[in-house]
Amino acid sequence: LVRARNVQKSYGDNEVLKGVDLDVMSGEVVVILGPSGSGKSTFLRCINHLEELNAGSIMVSDSQPGYVLKKGRLQRLPPRKIARQRQKIGMVFQQFNLYPHMTVLQNIIEAPIGVHKVPREEATRYAKELLATVGLSDKADAWPGNLSGGQQQRVAIARALAIRPELMLFDEPTSALDPELVGEVLAIMRNLADQGLTMIVVTHEIGFAREAADRVVFMDGGVVVEQGPPGEVLVNPQHPRFQTFLSRFI
Ligand code: ATP
Ligand code: MG
Repeated sequence: LVRARNVQKSYGDNEVLKGVDLDVMSGEVVVILGPSGSGKSTFLRCINHLEELNAGSIMVSDSQPGYVLKKGRLQRLPPRKIARQRQKIGMVFQQFNLYPHMTVLQNIIEAPIGVHKVPREEATRYAKELLATVGLSDKADAWPGNLSGGQQQRVAIARALAIRPELMLFDEPTSALDPELVGEVLAIMRNLADQGLTMIVVTHEIGFAREAADRVVFMDGGVVVEQGPPGEVLVNPQHPRFQTFLSRFI
């Protein structure tokens, strides 16, 4: 579903991604681990076309790549085509980013109605279904500010799912939460993984990686250093930098 090749991204002199290769198959759950500053968030933003690449390519689905080589130069696809790709991707951030002036239900139906032109009744029906999925059926008319962090993040997940994405990206979805609220969000993500949703999850929750991931990817210094099934790489990491990284969690 995702094919990233030699993805490079710099901010000024700061080479953040130095040639990332990653394939993600349909239905796969990939957890990305790595130290702070290793480029994990930047890579997710590249997949979602929130950043322009300096080199390389990323294809999502069997659609066209977000970038084409034209006259020897890497050029971005026209905005309309970028938008079409982005419509297949849902993203959940560390900060929930809900619209504070909209109710929970309005937050969820906004993109389906505004961007995807789904009729209001259909969007509302599906939003209620998603709220049930994340265990918040009774909060449709609540304001985000009146919810706990864990509840807000569950709404953010429902909102991302509302566009019926082929791929979900999670960037440290539990890092901003009080410890006692982390479990409820991970449980929702676990259910989505079990349902076969394709997910790329950046997290420091090693337990989630161990239990829910099909594959663990360790990034450091802007490249993929090691990857494999959690039962192998988490138990018996080969690369010294991965060993050092994991030793912090034991
Ligand atoms: P963390 O675990 O702390 O979230 P990360 O692996 O997600 O780290 P990134 O956020 O991708 O790392 O950042 C990698 C590097 O890119 C850092 O050195 C950061 O300062 C730099 N960087 C990220 N975004 C920008 C930006 N918009 N402009 C300039 N530099 C940036
Ligand atoms: Mg990050």
